[in-house]
Amino acid sequence: MGPETPLGKPQLKTMELGPRDRVSQAFWHEQRKGNAVPTQWGDSMLLDMRHLGEKTINERLPLVRDMSISYMGVDPVTDPVPVRPVVHYMMGGIHTDIKAATPLPGLYAAGECACVSINGANRLGSNSLTELLVFGRRAALSAMEYLQSGARPAGDAALAALGTAAQARVRELMQRSGGTETVAGLRKEMMHTMELNAGIYRTGEALAEACAKLADLRRRYRGVQLHDKTNVYNTDLLQALELGSMLDCAEAVTQSALARKESRGAHQRLDFVERDDKNYLRHSLAVYHPSQAPRVDYCDVVITKSQPGVRDYSGGHE
Ligand SMILES: Cc1cc2nc3c(=O)[nH]c(=O)nc-3n(C[C@H](O)[C@H](O)[C@H](O)COP(=O)(O)OP(=O)(O)OC[C@H]3O[C@@H](n4cnc5c(N)ncnc54)[C@H](O)[C@@H]3O)c2cc1C
Repeated sequence: MGPETPLGKPQLKTMELGPRDRVSQAFWHEQRKGNAVPTQWGDSMLLDMRHLGEKTINERLPLVRDMSISYMGVDPVTDPVPVRPVVHYMMGGIHTDIKAATPLPGLYAAGECACVSINGANRLGSNSLTELLVFGRRAALSAMEYLQSGARPAGDAALAALGTAAQARVRELMQRSGGTETVAGLRKEMMHTMELNAGIYRTGEALAEACAKLADLRRRYRGVQLHDKTNVYNTDLLQALELGSMLDCAEAVTQSALARKESRGAHQRLDFVERDDKNYLRHSLAVYHPSQAPRVDYCDVVITKSQPGVRDYSGGHE
């Protein structure tokens, strides 16, 4: 594992059983030392599971074996498997309270798209599915309660206007001609920008670069040309709409990260390596704007029983 950095010593004790962010950081250190293995998906490390033996791998890791063989053509029983960090969870999301209610009356969110703020700046392993069960149920109960109260989120005219606007957006995309941009091309550039500039370790300079690039991609997104103009199972349209949403999310991430001049959880900045509770013990709240980058606001953190503490794994429990 990598050398000691201003961000602390990579965990030697737990190795690949360390928390995901630490393992990803170890990858970054090794990559910088030139120890990565190039693959068609980018630099990777070799994960050696051979010592577990075929019996244990079949019993405990059948899915891992199956995926390694299907996707990489590598059997972990006989060979090390190339692995690399990817996004595993969105630590943020649509702002909700503990009843899964968003600030918009009648709109509820739960799961990965929501931010109920129980995970802080780094979700603990396996909390996501439990969170889904708890807050998915709460969202359903809240929605039922809302409907039974007879309340309406907006007047009928406002609802109809929203529907008309959505239809107009789709129609415009379908009828557009002469555009030179492709969904796949823009998505690739977005992925590359995010991985390079807003990934495992960040700096103000790189994040500012990402913000500028994403603004450019948002501008170019208006020139996306659909190849499929049919109304049935149109994946071209689906992917174009998804790309628009992904660009919005990417901008929310980079703008919030640029404004947060500290390191906290999975947000690690090489130019601000310490956690700064005085200025940043608060949630970043990106406010959508249809034609500009989102505005970054903040809202309070509600602390009840557990006080924020130093992140310490010296006991070896992760
Ligand atoms: C590799 C990996 C490993 C993980 N391992 C664990 C683990 O061990 N334990 C754990 O607790 N968590 C784990 N997680 C996290 C967990 O899997 C996710 O947080 C969780 O599945 C999110 O569920 P969800 O229903 O909120 O969202 P999703 O599962 O993403 O479901 C959202 C659905 O909405 C659909 N959708 C999107 N946009 C639209 C639209 N516009 N209209 C209609 N439908 C739409 C999508 O197609 C999708 O089916 C892991 C995540 C990853 C990536």
